Amino acid sequence: MISLWMEQVSHLPVRQSLQQDISVDVVIVGAGFTGMWTAYYLQKAQPDLTIAIVEAKQVGYGASGRNGGWLMGEIAGADGLLAKLTREQRMASHDLIHDIPDEVARVCAQENIECDLRKGGGLYCAARYPEQQQWLQAQLAQHKKDDYQPEDFVWLDKAQLNKQLKMPKAVGALFTPHIATIHPAKLAKGLATCLQNKGVQIFENSPVTHWQSGHVSTDQAKIKAKWVVPAVEAYGSQLKPMDKYQLAVHSLIIATEPLSQAIWDQIGLEKGQAFSESSRLVSYGQRTLDDRLVFGARGGYNFAGRLRKDEPLNESEMAVRLHLMHECFPILKQKAVKVSHSWGGNLALPRRFHPHMLCDRENKIAFSGGYVGEGVGATNLAGRTLADLILNKDTLHTQQPWVMNNQPMKALKKWEPEPIRWLTYKALNRALIYEDKVLADTRSPKWKRKAIVVVCDLLDAIMS
Ligand SMILES: Cc1cc2nc3c(=O)[nH]c(=O)nc-3n(C[C@H](O)[C@H](O)[C@H](O)COP(=O)(O)OP(=O)(O)OC[C@H]3O[C@@H](n4cnc5c(N)ncnc54)[C@H](O)[C@@H]3O)c2cc1C
Repeated sequence: MISLWMEQVSHLPVRQSLQQDISVDVVIVGAGFTGMWTAYYLQKAQPDLTIAIVEAKQVGYGASGRNGGWLMGEIAGADGLLAKLTREQRMASHDLIHDIPDEVARVCAQENIECDLRKGGGLYCAARYPEQQQWLQAQLAQHKKDDYQPEDFVWLDKAQLNKQLKMPKAVGALFTPHIATIHPAKLAKGLATCLQNKGVQIFENSPVTHWQSGHVSTDQAKIKAKWVVPAVEAYGSQLKPMDKYQLAVHSLIIATEPLSQAIWDQIGLEKGQAFSESSRLVSYGQRTLDDRLVFGARGGYNFAGRLRKDEPLNESEMAVRLHLMHECFPILKQKAVKVSHSWGGNLALPRRFHPHMLCDRENKIAFSGGYVGEGVGATNLAGRTLADLILNKDTLHTQQPWVMNNQPMKALKKWEPEPIRWLTYKALNRALIYEDKVLADTRSPKWKRKAIVVVCDLLDAIMS
């Protein structure tokens, strides 16, 4: 199984594979959100362009059909980059980023794409231990310094939080209105249908074995193109030369069976809010439109960036997620609610820990990726940006600090060689799980709590 989401759309028809050589203006490798949004905005801006998307498996097979469904008006690592701009530029960038969920909603309405989109905002909850409240309040203070508007991030006390989400141990939450939740596979499949109706060719089950400026090849055939857009995100770790720049790490999810109204009355989340319990295990959840609780958290890393296989979670992976979910919602344990689905996926970490939207004008290669697990929204902005870059337009999209115009892929920072990456990631993951245990245990002495936080801060800093 790929994911709950993909299972729920598995009745949709499969597309033909690439059988013969063709020639187009733009060829895109990968039918995830990056590839499809790029095709969408290119086609919209210049309807006579010929565009083909070549997908190794099926539309939405990658992270785009497996994620937690948080459609965020955020870009990972943006604040550090925006700090170098003027106040006016920074605020214009904030508006651009915050508008992402609304832009996706506008396109979905216009193109009749039904993907369960609900803009209920995001709740970063101080859910389980006092340090979470300190971290979130520090974030809020930093957001103020970074010129966010007061309404962009609001502190909710326990009573205010309870009106939206009830977690017995939570003491409050940082709320942002700029997040929606979606059914990711419905968005992926809906976008693909929309693109095909507009004349974009999509080939499934056609793994690209070789790509370079001017063409891509599969075992069956070749596509010649003026522009090549490799949009494979974490799968770049298997496709040279992207393996140097995009590291595949995993995120792992569980989903419950649909829950009764009586249980939801004790949890809340009536407006499709996204929520996190705010530990460093990077958890995320949502209540689906069919009333399941979907809950995920960061996963592991395979030596040399090998991809995670399509298999359910193993015992220990399941145990971590169940533990976190039950800590937040003990009612689910009391009622012995069953987990009906578990799955994992690959996402890409770039060495600079923020996405890159790059245009190598000389070789006519446009490339975006490295969303650090926050790509559901960022890919929409990436699609608009790559389209503008390819069409050589100077716009607000192309002026953002994560855009690398007129630069080759090798301008990206490379990852360190193995075994450094594997050892660092393993050490960090172990430390984070241990930190969570220490902090969640009310009997842990103060010195131990402080010490483990310092160690994890240090490992985090080494990684970034
Ligand atoms: C478990 C999980 C949970 C996540 N949760 C969230 C979330 O809630 N919110 C959020 O913002 N982000 C989340 N993310 C990240 C987000 O899903 C991704 O950043 C985003 O979907 C990336 O889209 P993409 O199109 O760039 O890559 P992908 O969706 O991975 O698409 C790449 C495509 O390329 C294809 N491909 C690979 N190699 C080849 C080849 N050789 N030839 C042809 N095709 C190829 C793949 O099959 C795949 O379909 C999550 C990721 C995971 C894994």
